[in-house]
Amino acid sequence: MALASLLEPDRRWMRLALKEAERAFEEGEVPVGAVVVKDGVIVGRGRNAVERLGDPTAHAEVLAVSAACATLGTKFLDGCTLYVTLEPCPMCAGALVWARLSRLVFGALDEKAGAVETLYRIGQDGRLNHRVEVVSGVEAEAAAGLLRAFFRERRPDADPERAPRTDER
Ligand code: ZN
Repeated sequence: MALASLLEPDRRWMRLALKEAERAFEEGEVPVGAVVVKDGVIVGRGRNAVERLGDPTAHAEVLAVSAACATLGTKFLDGCTLYVTLEPCPMCAGALVWARLSRLVFGALDEKAGAVETLYRIGQDGRLNHRVEVVSGVEAEAAAGLLRAFFRERRPDADPERAPRTDER
C-alpha cells in the first residue's frame, strides 16, 4: 500500500478499477472494471457482468454509474471521475453523458468499439448537451494485458471478431 500511495492519483484509482477487472476475469467475464470517485472516495464500483447477469447492458461503466447514483442519491455525477480499464463503448459513453459525469479516465483504447476517442468522440461532441473531460492511456498496458490473457486462456477458440482489438496488438 505504501507503494500505491506514492503513485499519482489517477494511476492509484485505476489500479482499483483493474482489481474489479481481475474479479470479472475470475468470474469468466471479459475483464473490464470501473470505479467512480468523488472527493477522494469511491462511490461506485462495477465490473463486466454480461455473462453472469445474461444482460448485454451489464458493462462495468453502467454498473458503476448506477452504483454511484445510488450511493450519492442523485441522477447526476457532476464532480465525479469514472476510472475504467477499457475505452467505453457507445452505450457506456452515452450513459456518461446522460449522467453528466465530470471526468473520465480510461486505460486501453478499444479500436473495435471505442466511442470516446477511437471510433466516435461521444462526450466531446458539442451537439450533445454535456461534455466530459477525458484522460486516456492510464495503466493501459495492464488493462490490455488482462484482456489478452483472458482471450488466450478462457476463450482460445472464441471468434476473434468478438475480441477487443487490444487482443490483436
Ligand atoms: Zn460499454
